Amino acid sequence: MRSIAILNQKGGVGKTTTAVNLSAALAASGQRVFLIDLDPQAHATLHLGLNPADCTASMYDVLTGQAPLAEIRQQAGENLWVAGSHIDLAAAEVELVGVVGREIILRDKLAEDAATRETAPDFQPFDYLIVDCPPSLGVLTLNALAAVEEVILPLQPHFLALHGLSKLLQTVELVAKRLNDRLRLAGVVLCLYESGTRLAAEVGSDVEQFFAGQQRRHPAWSDARTFQTRIRRNIRLAEAPSFGQSIFQYAPDSNGAEDYRRLAQELLEAAVVH
Ligand code: ADP
Ligand code: MG
Repeated sequence: MRSIAILNQKGGVGKTTTAVNLSAALAASGQRVFLIDLDPQAHATLHLGLNPADCTASMYDVLTGQAPLAEIRQQAGENLWVAGSHIDLAAAEVELVGVVGREIILRDKLAEDAATRETAPDFQPFDYLIVDCPPSLGVLTLNALAAVEEVILPLQPHFLALHGLSKLLQTVELVAKRLNDRLRLAGVVLCLYESGTRLAAEVGSDVEQFFAGQQRRHPAWSDARTFQTRIRRNIRLAEAPSFGQSIFQYAPDSNGAEDYRRLAQELLEAAVVH
């Protein structure tokens, strides 16, 4: 199973849009995908048509030890399952402060879940785990980073796009060193891309140069690449969440659907980073 956290501590850069539509694209191509919503705002949960208010339990209950993943996992489409979030999850950041090993709860829960599922006669593993992270580098994000092997970083190409990147890269490197030596930044995906503008093209090449200049000094992230697929700004992508539908249900012929299909293809073709 490949496991990928969609991470950027900035809000509004395209994390949730990418987590949901990349998951849906992978599912449509036959991969079995499990999406975990770790953002208390529950945007990914809503985007997939689930109302957090109707769910009896959420990732809050999983991280606080009150429910196993299996209890909150719901099927959101063919080949696609989701573990939903709830605003309660915001409290977990505080409630877990005194808990020993609080950064590796999700990893443990996933291991328990896999062990339980393996015993079922009709067991089929997931091919992809995708985690939608909140816009912070707190305990929820650390749980995501401790539990996955790859990070995808969505960036919005404006002039401050690289601002804050060093903090994020430091966090990835620290987690790789202390909690999860398999963790790698797989790549950067440019979202909300205004094709044809000079700024977008410049930021794209700045990002490529930044990683190319690292000369393997930082094993956790110096091999990161910039995905060739740019996710263009597309109004359909902004409209789809309010219908509780992925872009493939809402507007399958849009540029947004085409871009996420291509990103999924690129990911499927990319060699696993280690
Ligand atoms: P994040 O999860 O990083 O906060 P979102 O994925 O929620 O970011 O995106 C922020 C806003 O921009 C949302 O309203 C979303 O619908 C919109 N959006 C994201 N990607 C695109 C895109 N490529 N084109 C148009 N709107 C987009
Ligand atoms: Mg989000």
